[in-house]
Amino acid sequence: MNIQHKIRRILSFLNKTYGARPPFKKTDPIDELVRTILSQNTTDKNSLKAYAVLKINLKSWDELLKTHTRRIAQLIRHAGLANIKADRIKSVLTEIKKREGRLNLANLTRLDIEAALDYLRSLKGVGPKTAACVLLFSFGKPIMPVDTHIFRVTKRLGLVPEEYNIEEAHKRLSAIVPKDLIYQFHLGIIEHGRKTCIAQTPKCGVCCVYRLCKFKKKAFYRKKELCR
Ligand code: SF4
Repeated sequence: MNIQHKIRRILSFLNKTYGARPPFKKTDPIDELVRTILSQNTTDKNSLKAYAVLKINLKSWDELLKTHTRRIAQLIRHAGLANIKADRIKSVLTEIKKREGRLNLANLTRLDIEAALDYLRSLKGVGPKTAACVLLFSFGKPIMPVDTHIFRVTKRLGLVPEEYNIEEAHKRLSAIVPKDLIYQFHLGIIEHGRKTCIAQTPKCGVCCVYRLCKFKKKAFYRKKELCR
């Protein structure tokens, strides 16, 4: 089975199991950038709470630039690492304003994926996942953001070689997932990672992609060897 066919089959099983995903709707790039920075090293629940508090308390992102970093940290405390994230968000937005003359990333629309990635990665504190989230969710560019769930599950499914690091996984998945399926595949794998293919205790016995999984087979043979 070729890799793209395998990806289509995996997605079809995920869709049957977890239901239809919300239709693609572009987000504001600055919102996406801030939201993704807040999501680093914490749960969605905590980062979304921090983001909501920030939005309620600030009239605009321009106002954030005039707000003391200590106050920003206080507002985003639910996301954890508040001092680091407050400093990161403020310096990223300050740099965008300096380069663009306003808090707007509309210029990225005109760039190809590599150039847009380079632009975002050149902002201090913006890693491959954050950059890819902005390009996929705000500009609809076909690039796969790789978070901890996607990194783990796609390796188990044999889509990413085990020895690959996160940067290599980004490149590999962006290249092999059919462009029109990246958004759906991204959401589907994350949901699978949260609900079934859990880090320490994957529920292989009830997994919808069990037959397509390399990790499951390995675990099975390893167990058999141990029983000899
Ligand atoms: S079979 Fe197990 S390891 Fe493989 S994808 Fe399913 S839950 Fe994850």
